Amino acid sequence: MKFFSTNKQAPKVGFQEAVMNSLPPDNGLYFPEHIPLLSETVLRHFRQMSLPEIGYEMVKPFVGTAIESNELKTIMEEVLSFEIPLIQVEENIHSLELFHGPTYAFKDVGARFLARCLGHFSQSKGKETTILVATSGDTGGAVANGFLGIEGVSVIILYPSGKVSDLQEKQLTTLGGNITALEVNGDFDNCQALVKQAFLDKELNQKLNLTSANSINIARWVPQSIYYAWLLTQLEQKISPVIAVPSGNYGNVTAGMLAKKMGFPLGKFLACSNANNIVPRYLATEKYEQKPTVSTYANAMDVSLPSNFGRMQALYNNDYKAICNDVVGFSMSDQDILETIKLCQNQAGYLLDPHGAIGYKGLKTCLKAGGQGVFLETAHPIKFAPTMEKALGYSLTIPTFAKELIDKEKVATKVEANFKAFKELLIDH
Ligand SMILES: *Cc1c(COP(=O)(O)O)cnc(C)c1O
Repeated sequence: MKFFSTNKQAPKVGFQEAVMNSLPPDNGLYFPEHIPLLSETVLRHFRQMSLPEIGYEMVKPFVGTAIESNELKTIMEEVLSFEIPLIQVEENIHSLELFHGPTYAFKDVGARFLARCLGHFSQSKGKETTILVATSGDTGGAVANGFLGIEGVSVIILYPSGKVSDLQEKQLTTLGGNITALEVNGDFDNCQALVKQAFLDKELNQKLNLTSANSINIARWVPQSIYYAWLLTQLEQKISPVIAVPSGNYGNVTAGMLAKKMGFPLGKFLACSNANNIVPRYLATEKYEQKPTVSTYANAMDVSLPSNFGRMQALYNNDYKAICNDVVGFSMSDQDILETIKLCQNQAGYLLDPHGAIGYKGLKTCLKAGGQGVFLETAHPIKFAPTMEKALGYSLTIPTFAKELIDKEKVATKVEANFKAFKELLIDH
C-alpha cells in the first residue's frame, strides 16, 4: 500500500516511510492510496474472530510487506491484550469502554501499535531511536507507556512541573526502563518549544536519531478502526448502529469511517464535540472557521483546529454532501456535561466520564426516532475526579489501580525551560 499526502505536494511513500516520517514534507497528512475492502470471508466471519485476529486483518492491507505476517500477528496480540467491552446502558444504547488499557484512555491502542512499528523498523536498521514527546498530561502518558520495553527505542518525555494531575504525573514518572521523564520548570508551551528546537538541532539529531510520536502518524490512526468492527461483534441486534464519538482531533471518529469503508456494517457517525465545535459548525454550514480554543470539562477534546480534518475530507473525496450523508454533528456545553453525568448515573446507573457524556447525550438526542446506538467511552472517569465530584455531588471511590499508581515513587529529572540546559541533559543521557 502506498500513502499520499493530502496536500498533494509530497511523494507517495510506503508504510515504513509513512510511519518513520510521521508528517509528509508538505505538512499534509498521509492517506492510503485506496481504501482496502476486506474479503467476503472476513466480513462474513469476523463476529467469530478474536480481537487480535480482527486487528490483524484490518491493519494488514495497510502494512503490506513492511512487517512480516507472523510478526504482525504477534504485534497485534501485544497491542490488543486488554478488554474492550461493550456495556448495555439503556435498551438501545451501549457504551464501548476503551479505557481498560494501561493508561485508562483510548489512545493506548494507537500508541502501542506505533511503538511496535517504530521498534521493528529501528531494529531492522540496527540503529537506536530516541522519541521526544512533550505532554500536557494524557497523550504523552499513552505514548510513553506504549513504548515501555520496546527494544531499540528510548523515550524522553517532557511535562510541565505542577501542571498535570497527580495521577497523570505518576503515569509519566513511574515507568522506568527505556522511559525517562523530564519535569520542566515551565508550562506546556515551553515543553513543546524545547522539543521543536531539539528537532531542528543537527548535533542532537545525529547523536540521538530523534523521532516524534506525532498523533497524526498513520500507525496511530489506522488501528483505531479496529474498535468499530469489535463493537459489532458484541451487539446482539444486527441493525447497523449509530456511532457517537467524542472528538478532539478527529482521529478516532475518522478511523471509524475508515472501518465502514472497509466493509463493516456501521450506521451514521455522530461527531461529538464540546464548546470547541468547529466540525459540527462545518457540517451545519459548510464553513470551516477556527475560533479560539475554549477550556472545558472534556479537556482532551479542547481542540479548535482538528488535525485529522483532512482525513475526513479525503475519506469522502472532498464531497461535502457525501460527508453530511454519513456524519452528523453534535456539541454541548460544560453545564450539559455535568447534568448528563448526573442524569445517566441516576437513571441508568452508568458512570460516564466528561467525554463519554457528550457521546451518550448525542445518541439520546439522535435516537429519538428509534434505532440503536453505541457511544465510545474514551477515558476512565477517575481521571477527571474534580469534574465528576462537581457533577455527582460526591467524590468517587479511588479504584485499586489508581491507588497503586499514586503509591509508586516518582522518578523525574528537573530541567529549566532553557534549550542549552536541556541539550546538555540529552547529550549526557
Ligand atoms: C484524545 C481523546 C479524545 C479525542 O480523540 P480524537 O481522536 O483526538 O478525536 C476524546 N476523549 C479522550 C479521553 C481523549 O484522550
